[in-house]
Amino acid sequence: MLSEDSPRQKAVGYYVLNSLSPFEEDVLHEFKAHTNLCEEELPSNSWITGTAKRSRKAISRNINGFLNTGLGGTVHLGITDEGFVKGLRLTQYTRDHLVAALDDLMSRYSPPVEAHRYKINFVPVVESETTQEQRAAIVRYNSERDSDLERRQKEHLLRQPHYCWCHKDEVAQVNMGIIPAICVAEIIIKEWDPNDARNSYPVGKLRMHPIHQSEKGETFFRRTAYVTPCNGEELKLMSRQLVRARFEERIKKLKEKKAELLKEISAGLS
Ligand SMILES: [Zn+2]
Repeated sequence: MLSEDSPRQKAVGYYVLNSLSPFEEDVLHEFKAHTNLCEEELPSNSWITGTAKRSRKAISRNINGFLNTGLGGTVHLGITDEGFVKGLRLTQYTRDHLVAALDDLMSRYSPPVEAHRYKINFVPVVESETTQEQRAAIVRYNSERDSDLERRQKEHLLRQPHYCWCHKDEVAQVNMGIIPAICVAEIIIKEWDPNDARNSYPVGKLRMHPIHQSEKGETFFRRTAYVTPCNGEELKLMSRQLVRARFEERIKKLKEKKAELLKEISAGLS
């Protein structure tokens, strides 16, 4: 159960600044302290000198790994690797930027990821000394009301590492003393539902989820608390395990049903 001051209070929907997240990184949760979704967004200074490696990795691989298990999962943006809630300062326009960047990324996957299979939640972060009333007011605050509709329709610069107009706008606001609210952006990949009528891919007899390739043509799978790229052989093995798991569950349910029916029959005969 969540304590009075646990970082994420599900009922009221907020995190507490600098506290330890109630989640651990596991098969369903990943923490990121940055918002670079695709590789093109990674800053040029993220290269490790003298190597072909980067100090930070794009979030795309984590999203891809959550899709390919079929179980879904959440990437929490604004939580450090160690699990501390730091939050992100986002205006309505930089929130819109993140939503546009995610939609763009999902459209580049092969096959593309349909809109009903993911969403972003912006969850407020409150300071530990705030009262319950203040927290309730922060949760109720709607940044859409204080934003300009015309600006919200302005196109964002995606797939590049430089500041977009919305980021420059945010810096200008801070310089004027208007500090945007802090939040954790949760990118939620929903669990695969073969019965969802919105799925446009053929689900097939096995009712399996599609395996998606990332925008770079790579395929990842989420393991316990990390993602790994997969080659063809591993993919086959993984699919076989998933199919077996799915059938085992069905067989178990059918056996239970059979036992129940036998009971009913014997009750009826006696
Ligand atoms: Zn932007």
